[in-house]
Amino acid sequence: MVGPAVHLKGIGVSPGVVVGRVAKLSPPPVLPAGLEADGDPETEVQRTRQALSRVRDELGERSAHAASVAVDVLAAQAAMAADPVLAASIFGKIRDGQAAPTAVKDALAAFREQLLSIGGYLAERAADLDDIGNRVISVLLGLPMPGLPVRDEPFVLLAQDLAPADTATLDASSVLAIVTEQGGPTSHTAIIAKSLGIPAVVACKGAFAVEDGARMLVDGMSGAVVTDPSEEEVSERVGRLARRRAAVTEYSGPGRLADGSRIQLLVNVGTSADIERAGHADCEGVGLFRTEFLFLDRPSAPSVQEQRGTYRHIFESFSGRKVVVRTLDAGADKPLAFARMADEPNPALGMRGYRTARYLPDLLDDQLRAISRAAMGSGADVWVMAPMVATPAEASDFAKRAHELGLPLAGAMVEVPAAALRADHLLKAADFLSIGTNDLSQYTYAMDRETGAIPELLDPWQPALLELVRLTAAAGRRADKPVGVCGEAASDPQLAVVFAGMGVTSLSMAPVSLAEVRAELSLYTYSQCRRAAEMALSEQDGESARAAVGAYLDSLLAG
Ligand code: PEP
Ligand code: MG
Repeated sequence: MVGPAVHLKGIGVSPGVVVGRVAKLSPPPVLPAGLEADGDPETEVQRTRQALSRVRDELGERSAHAASVAVDVLAAQAAMAADPVLAASIFGKIRDGQAAPTAVKDALAAFREQLLSIGGYLAERAADLDDIGNRVISVLLGLPMPGLPVRDEPFVLLAQDLAPADTATLDASSVLAIVTEQGGPTSHTAIIAKSLGIPAVVACKGAFAVEDGARMLVDGMSGAVVTDPSEEEVSERVGRLARRRAAVTEYSGPGRLADGSRIQLLVNVGTSADIERAGHADCEGVGLFRTEFLFLDRPSAPSVQEQRGTYRHIFESFSGRKVVVRTLDAGADKPLAFARMADEPNPALGMRGYRTARYLPDLLDDQLRAISRAAMGSGADVWVMAPMVATPAEASDFAKRAHELGLPLAGAMVEVPAAALRADHLLKAADFLSIGTNDLSQYTYAMDRETGAIPELLDPWQPALLELVRLTAAAGRRADKPVGVCGEAASDPQLAVVFAGMGVTSLSMAPVSLAEVRAELSLYTYSQCRRAAEMALSEQDGESARAAVGAYLDSLLAG
């Protein structure tokens, strides 16, 4: 039976309109209070042995079908679930009188402590161990298995939030859309959904209460989520999307405003798969090449030779176009086994980003050397930039090193307010600036981009963030040097209009967002973009800035 439609609202982070049945990502199990052992310990041992085997088999099976990046993680997890020492420790606790789920929890907690005390790569596996524990306990308690659901038909994935391990095996052919209660526009979920082209809405309060199997409409542009939608509503939204899509197909090539003013449209790449996809994208090059994928999950840094080979591959696929390489951004949300500062209570405020070069200078110099060698004769216009630069001295130190190693264009990412406030000074040495709005939001509003506990603070329409973009862009115009935006904010078509109005010279985004951003920009003149920017800056919060600009742009199209 179809009930009345329920309208929910979240933040749309990956465009598209779909309707499908909900499949919920089960939360981790909670042990019932005062759980006591019942039954014969040997029967419980046998039950636990079967639960461990089931978890091992399922993880092994998932690893066989996972995307390349996830295969090793899942295979290693399957091996952990089969570990005889772990099993012996659990069985010992059951024979000592503990209930099976409690024995699993306690035995894994002890192993977890050991991994954490060893540190490095093994410490990073602690989360994998937690996942195994949750799975085994769920089997023992007869609860649904945590993690991605499996269905015969493609479904709308509904979750409180998605962990990186959940997203590793996401597959666009089985997931129609993603809706999460938590998370923000720069969360892991948002970035992955966008790169896979899956419509997604995050921070959608009340969504997780929707029943498994319910029919749900997801509009990844407006953030609307509707359960049991009426046929009229579905056709109206799908029709509106179709009209937008039609406008999108009219435009291709370099970014332009309605009066012909230019704004470069570039793409962000961060995995081998992204690079393959991006090579064919209708863009003017790469505005952000995240190089961490070369370094993650490795015990030591790749050699100059190996790095050169990977960079060369991407430069050749972008021959004749621009490629902005971001040097290694280690730390905080991108921890590396070999570039890790122990005991930092607040890693996001610690030795991350460009600061790594203070204690591992060779890591940076080797990378710059490899980029420089790969650039030579590749045909690409190679620029380099350093992540999370905070002071003019850092910008100048980086530019000096890069220039000395044969890279003529060296810039700084503006990701902390200090850099935006002193953009004029950064530009004395830096050849260009690129604004990383994901980090700039978290540092401006002191709100962790990973947890996004107060999502509206990470809304890229927040006027304080926009003010810092305006300051940086204005400094770029004074210095006559390029200033781009390469955070997720650049992929919001109407925010792109605001950035154009502030004088930003390039926008870099996931390839899937290019067409809509290009189409939206093409509809307005520079002076209309400036007006949109002024309106956004005069509002009190993100929501009203978005609404005011949305209404203004709609009025221009109507008139
Ligand atoms: C940013 O912070 O906006 C950015 C582009 O860098 P990353 O998301 O890789 O931290
Ligand atoms: Mg960043």
